[in-house]
Amino acid sequence: MQRRSFVLALAATLASTAVAADRAQPPRVLAFYSAHAEGDHVEFAEQAVKFYAAAATKDRFQFEATTNWDDLNAERLAGVQVVLWLNEAPGGAKQRAAFENYMEHGGGWIGFHGAAYNDGSTHWPWFVRFLGGAVFFGNNWPPLPGWLTVDDATHPVTRHLPARFLSPDNEWYSWQPSPRTNPDVKVLATLERANFPLGLKDTIRDGDVPVVWTNTKYRMVYINMGHGDKIFTEPRQSRMFEDALLWIARPR
Ligand code: ZN
Repeated sequence: MQRRSFVLALAATLASTAVAADRAQPPRVLAFYSAHAEGDHVEFAEQAVKFYAAAATKDRFQFEATTNWDDLNAERLAGVQVVLWLNEAPGGAKQRAAFENYMEHGGGWIGFHGAAYNDGSTHWPWFVRFLGGAVFFGNNWPPLPGWLTVDDATHPVTRHLPARFLSPDNEWYSWQPSPRTNPDVKVLATLERANFPLGLKDTIRDGDVPVVWTNTKYRMVYINMGHGDKIFTEPRQSRMFEDALLWIARPR
């Protein structure tokens, strides 16, 4: 009798778990990009949309992309677990306010390359704090591959990367100050100093140049890759883009 009760209880548990799993909605991901940005940034964004659309089928999340930054509003973001900025940041006050509200209330974000570009003309101090304090300082030109060191091989975002690898052609950004100086920031990958001087027309000569990091006060990851059509030619790096999304999308 006792055994029968146990079996029935187990069956009930399994049934309720199955119902819960059926009811669970796959995470919703909404990507923003500009189709009128720098050509190499548009090219990356279009490849990223294809990449994440394919990953959505495999990894079971819902993926949408828009070039309309006015979609950055509370109504549109309701129920969205991850916002992607593939090549730009919003310039409008309403769009910025909606994003701040979304992130301050547990929203998720992954930004690539030009998404984090900010300088004295950006006038968005909240966003600089959100990035961990990083202000754009310099870049290399032309786009070049770079050796990266993985700072934490156990982190969910970087765990499939080797300790160091050659990342394909990119326009790398340096930051002043380096976000690593912020104790809330966890740097996940860094452009090795052995690359320097890197560039011809514009050159990164020295300094600490993190390229992937998270500000642990938010559910966010910034990824500096995102210039041109070579970014998705390194499968292990592409896996990091996928892992970053799965990490941000997972409820915590
Ligand atoms: Zn660029």
